[in-house]
Amino acid sequence: MGICGKDLIKDGWFSERGALWPGQAMSLEVTEVLYSGRSDFQDLLVFTNPTYGTVLVLDGVIQVTTRDEFAYQEMIAHLPLYAHPNPVDVLVIGGGDGGVLREVLKHPSVRRAVLVEIDAAVVEVSKRFLPALAAGYDDPRVEVIIADGAAYMEDHANAYDVIITDSSDPIGPAEVLFQPPFYAAMARCLRAGGLACCQGECMWLHLGLIRPLLTACRRVFPTVGYAYTAVPTYPSGQIGFVVCAKAAGATPAVSARSPPPDVQARLQYYSPAVHRAAFVLPEFARRAVEGE
Ligand code: SAM
Repeated sequence: MGICGKDLIKDGWFSERGALWPGQAMSLEVTEVLYSGRSDFQDLLVFTNPTYGTVLVLDGVIQVTTRDEFAYQEMIAHLPLYAHPNPVDVLVIGGGDGGVLREVLKHPSVRRAVLVEIDAAVVEVSKRFLPALAAGYDDPRVEVIIADGAAYMEDHANAYDVIITDSSDPIGPAEVLFQPPFYAAMARCLRAGGLACCQGECMWLHLGLIRPLLTACRRVFPTVGYAYTAVPTYPSGQIGFVVCAKAAGATPAVSARSPPPDVQARLQYYSPAVHRAAFVLPEFARRAVEGE
């Protein structure tokens, strides 16, 4: 038996401890446990918190809260989508909560959005308890495939304009999504001019993981950048993205298009200015990312 999220609640507080953030723990007060259960892949816990709203936890690790999720979903989706001049076919790997899909669907150019999530239970629990995230599942452009993202990627060459890997951390089912063969498969699945954006962990905690990950990406993509966003409930309050472009000389750090005014009015974090700023790293991280 692995972790049971409910057992991490003591005296009314949930504490997130993990090997990937040694010596620190994020604690959230639990108002009510809405769901606790185990799927074939992981432990699922949903609870409410007075400040952050509804919280989804997988294998003891906070995945989303309804208060701060937009800072992650908007950035992981719109960085590659607005860097692309005309995204039509989009693939989301992981992301079963539906938040990234919701953002992808804000692009009228998108005709097909395929979500490949390994765990049907995450989709079902999110539809039930996180309806604001799982808002896009009924859109006719959406196709949901319950499968391992790495296996799916093996036989879909030249099929997508943008690939977004919204994965959990590299312990458990998401481990394969942080391996060099996965990045090579992503490059094959993208059309000419395509972009990929992957959950890239935290510059305060994981430079030792981020550097080899960027090296693996640079072997298969001519253009690779690193950006970040601020999410209070992620370890150290920050999470990064590895943004890869299939074209040499591409500039993913600059948006190719701007959100139309009606879309910009609904965005809470992303703007073209935030897009550019997200790639400007503090010196300690820039040196590590650029291999100095
Ligand atoms: N934003 C979140 C974070 O960084 O904490 C990630 C959210 S999303 C819920 C992550 C999803 O990736 C989970 O639902 C998990 O089941 C899925 N996942 C993990 N490994 C996967 C794999 N190999 N293929 C497809 N989906 C996977």
